[in-house]
Amino acid sequence: MNTAPNHSGDPSSPAQDRRSLRADCGNCFALCCTAFGFARSADFAVDKPAATPCQNLAADFSCTIHDRLRPRGFRGCTVFDCFGAGQHVSQQLFAGRSWREHPETREEMFAAFAVSRQLHEALWHLTEAERRSLDPDLVEQAGQLRLAIGQAVDGELSSLLVLDVAALHARVREVLMEVSAEVRAYHSASGDGRLESSLRPGAQLMGVNLRARLLCGAELRGAYLIAADLRGSDLAGADLLGADLRDARLDGADLSRALYLTQPQVNAAIGDRETLLPPDLAVPPHWEPR
Ligand code: SF4
Repeated sequence: MNTAPNHSGDPSSPAQDRRSLRADCGNCFALCCTAFGFARSADFAVDKPAATPCQNLAADFSCTIHDRLRPRGFRGCTVFDCFGAGQHVSQQLFAGRSWREHPETREEMFAAFAVSRQLHEALWHLTEAERRSLDPDLVEQAGQLRLAIGQAVDGELSSLLVLDVAALHARVREVLMEVSAEVRAYHSASGDGRLESSLRPGAQLMGVNLRARLLCGAELRGAYLIAADLRGSDLAGADLLGADLRDARLDGADLSRALYLTQPQVNAAIGDRETLLPPDLAVPPHWEPR
């Protein structure tokens, strides 16, 4: 049985545990393999409608091609992360009653998973914002918001399903951006001096050569860094919220103090054992040793 995620607690606590915001597939009813649909593409070998089990899903909710996902054309599965929403919905919200044994729960369980995943991702970022800010007001705001979202996630299913996620998202984004400005200002002094104007939020930086650069404090929120060369670069304090890092080269890069980096972003990039990641993130198994 899974332990309950600790979303609540003292909102002013400086260090919050993000372990409960990591996927625990052994305690999940394979919700990501069922609730979401995917289209045949470079990431998925087949089409799969939403709310239907993947053809590779076993009766015990394991994946029959788990060790061969990439060679079998299911790269997208090696990138995805639910931020712990899967086990929370399966074990806490639905008390360990699976959609297979209780098909009447399917619709609500899948809907709850979709909402919970977004909220868990927000909790992931708010926890970091709370840790990284030195401004007591911002720490308080991030903590209060984290607490409110934690209560929504842990609350009644009926309330969760009608939650105004967009409104909540807007509030989260505001706090994350304020903390970002603070952290970037702190780190930009260690950067390349004035970073060029092309390094801005939402920038199209596909395939760009940013190798061995001091990108400290860069504002790369939502930037398209697909296949960008970031090998050996220092991204301390660089805001990577929502940045697209698919196939970005991170070999030997230092992302240990990058801001708002997530496991799916890391999983989608290419790095090596010399890549430095924040302590809460894991080296993807598909990264080759240098
Ligand atoms: S291939 Fe495996 S991991 Fe991917 S959706 Fe299907 S069952 Fe899940």
